[in-house]
Amino acid sequence: MARQVTLDKKYMLENEIGRGSYGPVYKGLNLEKGDFVAIKKVSLGNIAQEDLNVIMQEIDLLKILNHNNIVKYLGSIKTETHLYIILEYVENGSLASIIKPDRFGPFPESLVAVYIAQVLEGLVYLHEQGVVHRNIKGANILTTKEGIVKLADFGVSMKVSEADDNTHSVTGTPYWMAPEVIEMSEVCVASDIWSVGCTVIELLTGVPPYYDLQPMPALFRIVQDENPLVPDNLSPGITDFLHQCFKKDARLRPDAKTLLSHPWIQNSTPVVC
Ligand code: ATP
Repeated sequence: MARQVTLDKKYMLENEIGRGSYGPVYKGLNLEKGDFVAIKKVSLGNIAQEDLNVIMQEIDLLKILNHNNIVKYLGSIKTETHLYIILEYVENGSLASIIKPDRFGPFPESLVAVYIAQVLEGLVYLHEQGVVHRNIKGANILTTKEGIVKLADFGVSMKVSEADDNTHSVTGTPYWMAPEVIEMSEVCVASDIWSVGCTVIELLTGVPPYYDLQPMPALFRIVQDENPLVPDNLSPGITDFLHQCFKKDARLRPDAKTLLSHPWIQNSTPVVC
């Protein structure tokens, strides 16, 4: 029988449910309340104590965020070698895994609108709280069995990557990054809106813009090109939505609240009475 791992006598770790660039994510059982959680295990190998304190303070701040379309941070537990980040468990995995060819494949425009409306609701809330997500992509949009989507992996993961001396200044996969993030001139709420545009293309086609290129040439093209290529077989509504997200000058991009009332979203999402 496998050895059972328990954290702080409170959470029992079960099977691995996913893996990101900072290590595995496990399903866990809260031994006090009986609810299930997701537990992200981050190696502390390259992280200085000072940076770790900042990361743990950041998690405490994120714990107060509460919205139906964001994954709730429940806390963190530090051992000598690892930091365990405890998160709300979202049972159906990410949209990136659901659109894989061996699962459901890419989505029709109308379903993309249903999910993107919720992504925008989550972003309106995060941006109002002064939090820039910085990592919007299909792999970070998790779904419940009722079709509610929740934004995961905001704030802390980026802090971890900044604190890790082994990573380069531009970390992770670049395809969803706004030009101003690549140029490191600024990271602002509008950078998330650019990534929403990339995610729309990912959900419609299976891959984000420039995915045929290696990461470095893709970064170069994102900065150089006027706009990423918008597929020409899309409806006028979604085409306009994408052009709004891909305004090169971040100051000209509409905010998440404005995009929620875009006709493509309004005309595709069910009216709730
Ligand atoms: P990266 O960290 O490299 O950007 P990522 O976002 O996919 O990649 P993680 O955030 O570590 O990496 O998540 C890895 C996988 O674990 C996710 O794709 C998802 O399948 C699963 N996962 C993460 N958080 C949760 C959660 N709260 N509930 C359920 N599954 C989760």
